[in-house]
Amino acid sequence: MSGKITVYTGPMFSSKTAALISAYERSTIAHKKVLAFKPVIDDRFGKNVIKSRSFGEIPAIEIESLEDLKKYDADVYIIDEFEFLEGDIKVLQDMVDFKGKIIYASGLDMTAERKPFGLMPELLAIADSVNKFVAVCHDCYEENANYSYFLGKKNTDIVVGNKEYITLCRKCYAARLRKDQAHEEKFGDR
Ligand SMILES: [Zn+2]
Repeated sequence: MSGKITVYTGPMFSSKTAALISAYERSTIAHKKVLAFKPVIDDRFGKNVIKSRSFGEIPAIEIESLEDLKKYDADVYIIDEFEFLEGDIKVLQDMVDFKGKIIYASGLDMTAERKPFGLMPELLAIADSVNKFVAVCHDCYEENANYSYFLGKKNTDIVVGNKEYITLCRKCYAARLRKDQAHEEKFGDR
């Protein structure tokens, strides 16, 4: 069996986790030993489970860094919310190159400020296959939203949750930035 890294990325609400759960189910049907992982930080849907809003849930092991994966033996590794993991991306390369492991990972490619998110740029660079999904734009309803956008204030990249976020297309993201800037100039700190 030859190894492979497949990535599902895009903004929030773009069915990344649904694709991951589907990969988990296909691998199970193929009689592979499958294990799913998620970062400790993501507690939106409870611990020890990866859950999609519409596509059910699978059991998951909580890890902090890529190095933790070495403690678990499986044929297929499913990893959710990859942007919150730490560690050396070489761990994945070694698993695939020398042990023929199959890896499916999903995560946000950008923060709400559109900066590359955590280890995602490195993951995207080494992946065999990248699937970049879009969401529906909150402002124009087109199915072309590449960006997550935060409606309130925050101090770090890491705000886990859905309520404060919307997804926007490039045009509508730029429109909101212009509006925010104009507001800031007029009223100071928004
Ligand atoms: Zn739009």
